[in-house]
Amino acid sequence: MAEYKYAQFLTHANKSAYDQGYHPSTNTPYSGIYRCTKCGHEVTSVTGYPLPPQNHHQHTPAQGAIVWQLIVAHGWIQG
Ligand SMILES: [Zn+2]
Repeated sequence: MAEYKYAQFLTHANKSAYDQGYHPSTNTPYSGIYRCTKCGHEVTSVTGYPLPPQNHHQHTPAQGAIVWQLIVAHGWIQG
C-alpha cells in the first residue's frame, strides 16, 4: 500500500490512465507507482523502461498473469 503524509503534495485526478491494466514487460506509459491487480504487489516504474516482467513475482495458478495498474503518477499526465 502506497502512503503519504502531506496531502498538499498530491492531487486527486480522475483520469482514465488509472483505470487501465498494463501487461508485464510493456513500455511504462507513465512514471509512477504501479500495483499488481491480482495480488497487490507494488513497484515503481519509469517511462523509457518496461514494466516488470511476468516472472517479477510468483502468482498462484488461480491468480493468473500479472496486470499492472497505475496508482500514483509522478507528475501531471494527460487523459
Ligand atoms: Zn501479482
